[in-house]
Amino acid sequence: MASALTDKLTRLVKEMRGQARITESNVTDMLREVRMALLEADVALPVVRDFIARVKEKALGQEVLGSLKPGQTLVSIVNRELAATMGEGVADINLAAQPPAVILMAGLQGAGKTTTTAKLAKHLIEKRKKKVLTVSGDVYRPAAIEQLKTVTKQAGAEWFPSTPEQKPHDIAVAALDYAKKHYFDVLLVDTAGRLAIDEALMQEIKDLHATLNPVETLFVVDAMQGQDAINTAKAFKEALPLTGIVLTKLDGDSRGGAALSVRQITGAPIKFAGVSEKIDGLEVFDAERHAGRILGMGDIVALVEQVTAGVDIEAAQKLAAKVKSGDGFDLNDFLSQIQQMKQMGGLSSLMDKLPSQLTAKAGAVDMDKAEKDIKRKEGIIQSMTPLERRKPELIKATRKKRIANGAGVQVQEVNRLLKEFEQMQDMMKKMKGGGLMKMMKKMGG
Ligand code: GDP
Repeated sequence: MASALTDKLTRLVKEMRGQARITESNVTDMLREVRMALLEADVALPVVRDFIARVKEKALGQEVLGSLKPGQTLVSIVNRELAATMGEGVADINLAAQPPAVILMAGLQGAGKTTTTAKLAKHLIEKRKKKVLTVSGDVYRPAAIEQLKTVTKQAGAEWFPSTPEQKPHDIAVAALDYAKKHYFDVLLVDTAGRLAIDEALMQEIKDLHATLNPVETLFVVDAMQGQDAINTAKAFKEALPLTGIVLTKLDGDSRGGAALSVRQITGAPIKFAGVSEKIDGLEVFDAERHAGRILGMGDIVALVEQVTAGVDIEAAQKLAAKVKSGDGFDLNDFLSQIQQMKQMGGLSSLMDKLPSQLTAKAGAVDMDKAEKDIKRKEGIIQSMTPLERRKPELIKATRKKRIANGAGVQVQEVNRLLKEFEQMQDMMKKMKGGGLMKMMKKMGG
């Protein structure tokens, strides 16, 4: 799934090489692929059309800067526009209200409202140190009230009882009153689910909104909903002044195209993403990262930019060829890799940008530490003779001491470096079939 678009775009990028400007003719094929990718990711058709038109306008006539090629420039325009459409930066929950700050949860039945209510409670308790009360206004399903009670307990928040005999309005007033009297910072209000848009229920949630005057009205939407998300989003936007979106079930197979649709239709920022059924499965939404997911490319686009900006492609290719052929990956390569990583903004920033399948493979390496002593490592390797760099197995105790002296470090550090080199060698072997080097080779050369 993910690699298909990457391959196609890579091919198109290659075809466009050597052209200095993005033109009507070279942009069409590329945008067709992007359009397909968006549709495959389940972005609603009208949203796709709109988006493509915007990208085309931005891209046409755009000069290709620096070492970038037209195809790469276009990929980055697409990615940037995607991220910008879904909202840049981080939008956390707004609690700027006379306490209790009321948060109203809206969405279809099964979207994940109740689960998200509890996840949010936990988030606000742990990250914002708030005292949180939850209440269910779902008087149609007693099981829903019980479910909220259970998950609220797991979240460590307090649950305000309600019963199917009450009117949602009365529940809201009672809960608000209780929250005020007991100095709660936040009141989270779960609402009745609806399987489809239903006039009576829409009116009910509008009334609840009027009663509660919430500082946040969050639209909870299932990422798996795909094309349908657009209709649901429209209906909720018309009924309520939405202040944010929570996109749930992003741990599923969906490429998450609903994010783009819902964001465009409602104009509200996507604040959180649900990434598991568990109570801690809530993440602050990252538009950049999600753009990569929709395009099925991880953050490869950003990586392309970094790679082309700061790295000696030829050296990377040589390295890739070496790894591929199984030829010894030696300390010279290790050194050149360290130096390239440095140019690209450090190891951890690079790993952050790779698709998770790739970084999982490299999981054994401690990124922070690696970054911190990059300089010392350079020094150590530079204190070795060319022969030692090519054949690290020659480095016995006395040589280690000499190298350590030369680099002004302890012998243990030389040992550590050699060990890390071995790990890196291992990692390179694992990445042989695909991964970073192959990718750099494809995109760059
Ligand atoms: P509600 O009807 O909108 O209140 O939806 P629920 O909170 O009851 O959730 C419906 C189903 O979706 C439940 O089985 C949840 O466990 C599941 N669910 C909710 N959020 C997520 C999520 O982010 N990831 C996954 N995998 N499941 C979720």
